[in-house]
Amino acid sequence: MLATRLVILGKQGAGKGTQAIRLSQHFRVPRISTGDMFRMFVKGDSEIGRRAKKYMESGDLVPDEVVNEMVRERLVELDASEHGFVMEGFPRNVAQADALDDMLSPHPVDLVIELDVPTGVVMRRLASRRVCTVCGLNYSVDAPPKKNWTCDACGGDVVQREDDTEAVISRRLDQYDKQTAPLVAWYLATDRLAAVDGEGDPDTVTRRLLRAIESRLARR
Ligand code: ADP
Ligand code: ZN
Repeated sequence: MLATRLVILGKQGAGKGTQAIRLSQHFRVPRISTGDMFRMFVKGDSEIGRRAKKYMESGDLVPDEVVNEMVRERLVELDASEHGFVMEGFPRNVAQADALDDMLSPHPVDLVIELDVPTGVVMRRLASRRVCTVCGLNYSVDAPPKKNWTCDACGGDVVQREDDTEAVISRRLDQYDKQTAPLVAWYLATDRLAAVDGEGDPDTVTRRLLRAIESRLARR
């Protein structure tokens, strides 16, 4: 069977996490989220966590060499190397995208999807967002878990992320514009990009994503 290798790009709050979880279930491949990995390493107070913490708190990018090494080690694990992955939060600048091509050679990504949502909408989503600390599932103050801020899927604590404050959000969005947005043109130039409208309810967005992905996979 062919592996399926997908990358989701998009602003903070565009719905990458939510959609990546769904796509990973659909294609039966692991979800690789560098943000979740860093949060786990911080929680476990490991070496990587200690190196990443101060950048995460201020909304800055963790240095490329730390991120690239972490992703490189993740990709050689059997689940990802055999079946593929849905990756989210990486790459976030051209240097990381270059490094990813290098790590995946000779089996490049099948498709990079830009999940497109206007800035005004993501600002509103982020202010009300709540996240499961264990599995990463997203909720909001308007759509909380069924009981007591524990995750419907795994029972983990559902909390507001420490970097989902107004000041840090605007810094993260600024980083996105400067560092990550240029990747859209970068992937477009090599015919690896599909832009998908990320507005609307999550099921509708999932359907749009699947349509874009299936049509690409049919071509390979
Ligand atoms: P966001 O919603 O800000 O995109 P993530 O959960 O993806 O949040 O990442 C949280 C933080 O982890 C980022 O603000 C950054 O400090 C760090 N991080 C995650 N992925 C990367 C990456 N590819 N390169 C550099 N830093 C990263
Ligand atoms: Zn959970």
